[in-house]
Amino acid sequence: MYWNKDHECIEKDTLKKLQLARLKQTLAWASRSPFYRDKGIGDLSIQDLSDIRKLPVTTKQDLRDAYPYGMISTSLDEVVRLHSSSGTTGIPTVVYHSFGDIDRWTELVTRCLYMMGMRKNHVFQNMIGYGLFTGGLGLHYGAERLGCLTIPSGPGNTKRQLKFMKDFKTTAIHVIPSYALHLADSLQSQGIDPRKEFPDLKYAILGAEPHSEETRGKVEDFFGIQAFNSYGLSEMNGPGVAFECPQKCGMHIWEDAFFVEIVDPDTLEPLPYGARGELLITTLCREAMPIIRYRTKDLTSVMPETCACGRTHMRIERITGRSDDMMILKGVNIFPMQIEAVLIGIPGVGRNYQIILEQKGHNDHMIVRAEIDPALNVDAYKGLERLRSRIVRELRDEILITPDVDLCEPGSIPVAEGKAIRVIDNRTL
Ligand SMILES: [Zn+2]
Repeated sequence: MYWNKDHECIEKDTLKKLQLARLKQTLAWASRSPFYRDKGIGDLSIQDLSDIRKLPVTTKQDLRDAYPYGMISTSLDEVVRLHSSSGTTGIPTVVYHSFGDIDRWTELVTRCLYMMGMRKNHVFQNMIGYGLFTGGLGLHYGAERLGCLTIPSGPGNTKRQLKFMKDFKTTAIHVIPSYALHLADSLQSQGIDPRKEFPDLKYAILGAEPHSEETRGKVEDFFGIQAFNSYGLSEMNGPGVAFECPQKCGMHIWEDAFFVEIVDPDTLEPLPYGARGELLITTLCREAMPIIRYRTKDLTSVMPETCACGRTHMRIERITGRSDDMMILKGVNIFPMQIEAVLIGIPGVGRNYQIILEQKGHNDHMIVRAEIDPALNVDAYKGLERLRSRIVRELRDEILITPDVDLCEPGSIPVAEGKAIRVIDNRTL
């Protein structure tokens, strides 16, 4: 049932003591980095976990400002790897790892994989980008430690992915949700039944981009598998921060490695358990580059109760959006995920979509481009018009503004190999 029962089912009080000891150790490490030394981290005394609120938050901009080496707290001799986030503009954010850091990261990922049901006799096909992005190597190391035959197939090349899945009898895939849907489209257009084609496939890990419960449902139904939600960010190693257990009731966040706070994104004031706010994370066992109270910008809430699976680490809700992904349109706050949830629930709508924001005069305007399901008979013009009206109506009910909806042919919206680009904002701010 457990990869590391002593840690996964650790008693809550023991966990708190461990966290406090590790927090003190983290501050001692951090005070050696130029960035945190300048912040006076070493002078602050921590007696209790709640004292963490005395510490300053760290932002993505801080990481950029400290580029290239300002955040390192060991000598460079100790550093064995760096990863960099997928920032498209400006200075990248870089995270450094010692050998011990990689080892501890791998342990966390292995726990996740074992928790979802993977075992050493399984075949794991990792369809996520290798390289600077953390998703590829992060899961790869965990699957190898577990003993799985690990296929570093990387993203893209759909034909080869499907061939590998069949030939190597792949048990589990790690895939970006939008790419999982693209694979489904590809199979559907070839008339292939995935349950017959891949009888050994049991699991999918859906990571790297936020997605709706409806998307998970589509992946599970189409392939006849269990799909698990994974949460990670490169600043906190990458994958292996939080992961679903078979209860699928939130993602366990490994509290022996990460200290979790939920705060109001505007005031940074702590919020009570159950309230939705911004997730702040402090690393508790990263030596080469500790990060204190990192503003993830991800919005979630926590469930502190022990889970039915027996693990004591708190769970976080599915990430419902990022505070910086939120679109404000005509004064209304909208998350791309709300639109995805509506689209995927309507029969006849395909799996790829894009949101375009424009200005008409002084008014903001939203256009939703949605692909038609390849199985739909496109000659039925009246049917299409009915479909379009239904999408407009259901979107209006959800987001309280009326978008234009463009239906387009299957495959006409480009599929990204990394995170899908869902929102194009053409407004002049
Ligand atoms: Zn659980």
